[in-house]
Amino acid sequence: MKVTIVGGGPAGLYLAILLRKADPGVQVSVLERNAPDATFGWGVVFSEETLGALRDADHETHLAITDTFARWDRVDIRYGGRVLTSRGHSFSAIARKRLLEILQERCLALGADLRFHQEVGSVPEDADLVVGADGVNSLVRRAYEPDFRTRIAPEGCKYAWFGTPLVFDAFTFVFRETEHGLFQVHAYPFDERTSTFIVECREDTWRRAGLDECDEDESLAFCERLFARDLEGRELLSNRSLWTSFPKVTNATWHRDRVVLLGDAAHTAHFSIGSGTKLAMEDSIALRDALVARSWDVDAALVHYELARRPVVERTQEAASESAGFFTRVAAYAGAEPIQFAFNLLTRSGRITHASLTVRDPGFTRSLDAWFSGARAGVAPPPVFAPFRLRGLELRNRIVARAENEAASGAALVLSGFVAVSAGGRISPETPTIDDWTPAQRPVLLQLGHAGRRGACLPRSVGVDLPLPDGWELVSASPLPYGPYSAVPTELDAPGLAAVREEFVAAAQRAGELGVDILELDFAHGYLIGSFLSPLTNRRRDEYGRERLRYPLEVLDAVRAAWDGPLAVRLSVTDWARGGLAVDDGVAIARALAEHGCDLVHTVAGQTVHDDRPEYRRGFLTGLGDRVRAEARVPTLLGGHLTTLDDVNTAVGAGRADLCILDLPSSAVEADAVPPSVERQAVST
Ligand SMILES: Cc1cc2nc3c(=O)[nH]c(=O)nc-3n(C[C@H](O)[C@H](O)[C@H](O)COP(=O)(O)OP(=O)(O)OC[C@H]3O[C@@H](n4cnc5c(N)ncnc54)[C@H](O)[C@@H]3O)c2cc1C
Repeated sequence: MKVTIVGGGPAGLYLAILLRKADPGVQVSVLERNAPDATFGWGVVFSEETLGALRDADHETHLAITDTFARWDRVDIRYGGRVLTSRGHSFSAIARKRLLEILQERCLALGADLRFHQEVGSVPEDADLVVGADGVNSLVRRAYEPDFRTRIAPEGCKYAWFGTPLVFDAFTFVFRETEHGLFQVHAYPFDERTSTFIVECREDTWRRAGLDECDEDESLAFCERLFARDLEGRELLSNRSLWTSFPKVTNATWHRDRVVLLGDAAHTAHFSIGSGTKLAMEDSIALRDALVARSWDVDAALVHYELARRPVVERTQEAASESAGFFTRVAAYAGAEPIQFAFNLLTRSGRITHASLTVRDPGFTRSLDAWFSGARAGVAPPPVFAPFRLRGLELRNRIVARAENEAASGAALVLSGFVAVSAGGRISPETPTIDDWTPAQRPVLLQLGHAGRRGACLPRSVGVDLPLPDGWELVSASPLPYGPYSAVPTELDAPGLAAVREEFVAAAQRAGELGVDILELDFAHGYLIGSFLSPLTNRRRDEYGRERLRYPLEVLDAVRAAWDGPLAVRLSVTDWARGGLAVDDGVAIARALAEHGCDLVHTVAGQTVHDDRPEYRRGFLTGLGDRVRAEARVPTLLGGHLTTLDDVNTAVGAGRADLCILDLPSSAVEADAVPPSVERQAVST
């Protein structure tokens, strides 16, 4: 068996070690364009988890790596003139150069053939297996790009990766406001003499600061001046430390015939979660495992490798994208209380939560809880149990539940489910109208809507958006049917617009008589008012098409005038569809709604058109709610399959939401024991 590996970075070298170790009969060559001691960048961080995997895969490398580690357990966050410290995190780092030396030595000891100064110009053909471990600009990947279906998109801020002789004693984040905008630093030690010092900022800030026109020395001098206090007078070190954008690489598949991609060639994860090297080396372990498990049958092993690795990599890429997004948006959190800012930062990628941070650093969450609940000292309830006030209404906690869910009995607020403003606005014949609805529980949030072109359907229990054989006439912003089987709606004319607006007003007045606590208008999910907002569903040529917000705001204004209690709007912040509303549009709409008296935005996404591309997963709405709350500066109600109090504590504590819909799983853990006589019968039959 002959394996040729293109690229002698962490992925390629580690794979060579593992293959030689698994079977010394396998010939392994590594072709690397650079000299053995040439490297970009400075130090890389590893978590405890990664170290466990490395220990099991090759004890000798693990020992050599951990021997030279810089270790620390603190994260320091320098923000708003304060330093916030969180402990218990357990990081280790190593110089990239040292890591490569260790891997090269071990490769040689195991008899791998390392060839430096070998610029590979085309995919080698004389091997049973060719591995593209040639990094983010992979030649191997580019050679078969249409097969791999590669996507590369810039992610996060502009950044420059420096070193410094100042040895930080914690993973240190610095946030520094300038007249050009906010700059951030991610700094950590990686040996006894040096630290990594990554400076980043948004592209507009970078241009305003003139960094697009600076050469390497000028930009280094700029960063040294800006962070002189944090550098304690030390210099920054450059190693081709040019400003660049992080490329997020994804591929629909990672193998083609006998060629496979590994590490950054296959996928990248934004550096702000420090996982690129870990992912690269774990890929090597997975490929070795697959080859051994499939008895070196390359075709079967490559499928095995990809099936095993892809879900893990995709989860890490999602977390990395959340983290990159946090740092591009971080200016929107300026003004947040330092403890909440720090908690938001620590929980940004979804991998640390209120509960897991409490295990690592109970003092930190105690301090957050105390600040959140306004307690001065002692024991404070976690954020989920802090009361919330909205226009004079006080809710006793942050939990909102659907009436039928178990959480409803402990929730501060119960959702009514869709209630139509009129019979013509129902989704199906089962949908209640405001005239035949009464609140079953209090406090209640009445979800008032008009189904528009999604109306006149069979009950949802039968299927979604299946039209009734003999339905009623539908109306919408434009005469476009919702799904392939839906009826064509009539475009609302001026009298129709006025009539629907009056139906909303009349329903709001009725809600007042019924003692509703919060009134919510449904501007989401492709129902009538939502279909005015999206360019995909509003093709009108009149003023309601030229200004798509016009009619929704007219309805909101009219209801606001008739209802002086708390008023919410349910809004699809993005259509999740090409040509539809993007998150920036959704945030701008939320801002306009708040200016027109909306007190709470219930953040949802998609369903504007039937063929959208949803991104469902646990907590899929949290990032969207966060953006609406921070950028439109309006309280948010958040759903998205939050199933634990920890989810709520994390979202509310970090300032990503004010209220959360809790989808509690059933708590039925006990059942009657089967009587012994029945058990005996079952065995004998
Ligand atoms: C600013 C920044 C900070 C980072 N911080 C961290 C961190 O803290 N922790 C972490 O785990 N990761 C970090 N990373 C990511 C990490 O550097 C990469 O994910 C990791 O190096 C990937 O390893 P690899 O072996 O796949 O690719 P690489 O390390 O890029 O190695 C690829 C090798 O292939 C060689 N090569 C390329 N093309 C050819 C060719 N045609 N012929 C011959 N040789 C070729 C290159 O010279 C190189 O040696 C960071 C990245 C950045 C940009």
